[in-house]
Amino acid sequence: MFLNEIQEYDKKYFMNTFGSRIPVAFTKGEGIHLWSTEGEKYTDFFAGIAVNSIGYSHPTFVDMVTEQVSSLIHCSNLYYIEAQALLAKELVENSCADKIFFSNSGAEANEGAIKLARIYFKKLGKPEKYEIITLQKSFHGRTITTLSATGQEKYAKPFEPLTQGFKKVPINDFAALEAAITENTCAVMLEPVQGESGVYPCNPEYLQNVKRLCLEKDILLIFDEVQTGIGRTGKLFCYQKYNVEPDIFTLAKALGGGIPIGAVCAKEHAAGAFTPGEHGSTFGGNPLACTAGLAVMKIMKEEKLSENAEKLGLYIKSRLEALSSSTYPVISEIRAVGLMIGIELNKPVAPAVKAKMFEKKYLIANVGENILRILPPLIITQADADEFIAALTSAIDEAL
Ligand SMILES: *Cc1c(COP(=O)(O)O)cnc(C)c1O
Repeated sequence: MFLNEIQEYDKKYFMNTFGSRIPVAFTKGEGIHLWSTEGEKYTDFFAGIAVNSIGYSHPTFVDMVTEQVSSLIHCSNLYYIEAQALLAKELVENSCADKIFFSNSGAEANEGAIKLARIYFKKLGKPEKYEIITLQKSFHGRTITTLSATGQEKYAKPFEPLTQGFKKVPINDFAALEAAITENTCAVMLEPVQGESGVYPCNPEYLQNVKRLCLEKDILLIFDEVQTGIGRTGKLFCYQKYNVEPDIFTLAKALGGGIPIGAVCAKEHAAGAFTPGEHGSTFGGNPLACTAGLAVMKIMKEEKLSENAEKLGLYIKSRLEALSSSTYPVISEIRAVGLMIGIELNKPVAPAVKAKMFEKKYLIANVGENILRILPPLIITQADADEFIAALTSAIDEAL
């Protein structure tokens, strides 16, 4: 089909949740490139919102997933599942978690983490501990409960009444967090680097203080690593970068290389709170999704993609900072942790720069009028980064 037909059907048959989209539809991907219905080639520096970290059509991924598709796609959790057991083992052996539960998305993984935190204290005979403190500008998902956890009113307001028991405090304000804690607090839940709202990292000392306070007050620490996880920030998991181990962390986006999967990862004491019948999923952790996860983990390791994210993230950051202090004063701040990059502009031209980049066949995103958000696949090379920066500077020239 051509783009205009797809657009017509979309308008007629699809709920209008995404508004008028960027006018392109893709039919094929390879490496960091995508091809459109009109046969044009694009370079992807947004990676399906941090999902396609290993790039498109990676041969190892295609082989493992194709083989699984032709043997067994789904069987229910009524039975034992080899790929599920293997992926859980792989995640445990490479993280601070002792047990894993698989879901189908980030929101669903966060729902699982929230349920786990609440039932943990119920089982300790402390049902009064049910409140969860989250951060302003956070994003935890689109279900009613994860919207209740999300610190952005615009998403949640239309769906009130929300789930009770969530309190929001500003990021990197330890005093505010300390003041929000009561005898009802069961968990602190945060993204170590806030993604969706514009790439805002937590300070290392802040996270270390939060961890210490949680231990002191008998509160669970939950990291939402749906976006930061699986190498994006330069370590396999972002908590490793900060040297702060959460009791529970969640994964999704990059874990399945594009096949939907989420994970609740927990240390033994917390994980043990779930007993049979208290949580479940029809699709969660099925053979196909877990095989995709195993392929991603294998490729991450073989190609040292976390290290590449660290190296290329620092490279892009330093090049952008050099531009900011010389010829491009419009770039006012670079917030980058690995290949999770926010570029703050001091003029409201982010949408125009994104549009100019699209004309140059580059996919990036903006947050509001002043922030560009860059999430390239973790397989990019220095030459890819150089080409990207060349395109970006000319896009800025044209947009100003
Ligand atoms: C994307 C995202 C989610 C939601 O994931 P879905 O798969 O869209 O439900 C939750 N938390 C964070 C930090 C995210 O970036």
